[in-house]
Amino acid sequence: MTWPTATAVLTPRGAQRWLTGHPWIFRSDVASLSEGTGRETLARVTDRRGRVLGHALLSRSSQITLRILRRGPEPPDENLLRRRLRRARDYRTERGLGERDAVRLVFGESDGLPGLVADRYGEHLVVQLLSSSMDGLRDELVPLLVEEFGVASILARHDVGVRKLEGLPLEVETLYGDPPDTVPYHEGDLVFAAGIRHGQKTGAFLDQVDNHLRVGQLARGRVLDAFSYGGGFGLAAARGGAEEVVSVDSSGEAVARITDAAAANGVTNLTPLEANVFDYLRERHRGGDVFDLVVLDPPAFAKNKRELEGALRGYKEINLRAMKILRPGGMLVTCSCSYQLTEDLFDQVLAQAAADARRAFRVVERRDQAPDHPVRVGFAESRYLKCLVLEMMD
Ligand code: SAH
Repeated sequence: MTWPTATAVLTPRGAQRWLTGHPWIFRSDVASLSEGTGRETLARVTDRRGRVLGHALLSRSSQITLRILRRGPEPPDENLLRRRLRRARDYRTERGLGERDAVRLVFGESDGLPGLVADRYGEHLVVQLLSSSMDGLRDELVPLLVEEFGVASILARHDVGVRKLEGLPLEVETLYGDPPDTVPYHEGDLVFAAGIRHGQKTGAFLDQVDNHLRVGQLARGRVLDAFSYGGGFGLAAARGGAEEVVSVDSSGEAVARITDAAAANGVTNLTPLEANVFDYLRERHRGGDVFDLVVLDPPAFAKNKRELEGALRGYKEINLRAMKILRPGGMLVTCSCSYQLTEDLFDQVLAQAAADARRAFRVVERRDQAPDHPVRVGFAESRYLKCLVLEMMD
């Protein structure tokens, strides 16, 4: 492929940011942008003196105007996309993830492919082209994805809000072949159905798979899987050492998924429940119920900085309530997928919750997203999932 190229001149602040390694440049840090045809997906990026800093994907209509593709004066060659896709695939294979039948093959900036997410479920690929520049490359990208990943179909889950910020339509589109509605996949020896067309995310929460498996090892006695969605935590616990498990989600669709998954795996010690977790925790505490292990995996309460304050209250409340229904020696596996809630802030929330619950905890493990969602150094946004295992001290 050839790259029609515009030129972007950065302000001194923009140039500084580029040099720190953050892969995004905001519009306010772009001093000028060449007119060109307006359809270029690539920009040569220079400082005010004309020194070429590198090349970036260009989204003219987005606040995130430039996404770094490559540093230095060399322009990207025609094989860059193919090479990056191949490297993304090999990176997973080298880590033993190639054997999984559900795996994130491309995680945007962390694979040098800004704005692209690609999850493989069996022989089907689900993608998200999240920037207008990546979307503009779809005709080049689709054949490369088919060749490099050897998939039978490609479905685009473009029904995600961030596309609006890029001036792109929200829709679910078939890009190749004939994608089914659901695809079976495994987590350990459990089988799940990924709802690739209608489910949340691209069909499953692949970022939590390793944490699901860990909970399977830790589980004992009575387990509560709160904010359960497809029941990855609950089923792993039920199959592991738990006597009984309750999986709670406010969505009827989630409860139906867990019911089906429990049946498919012959799991009989798990009860799915449609309820609001805030209410459920309050009621269990009032009723004097206790659990040996509680998992909290709420949706991102803060999607941006403005929402952070309200989110902190939400995180504190669920953690406080979960701590109150634990048996001494019990475990709390508490997650946050909100990038805005940093690890430090999360620690503070947990400290306040423990103080209010008048309980002491120690940190058994600090975990994060699964290894097929690698973190890019200098790009804090790519490390969004936190998963702490706490043990209640008596
Ligand atoms: N634990 C899951 C992912 C959970 S995603 C996994 O590992 O696969 C968050 C879930 O929380 C969603 O399914 C959503 O329906 C549910 N949810 C959001 N708010 C809720 C509330 N107040 N009470 C119960 N469930 C809620």
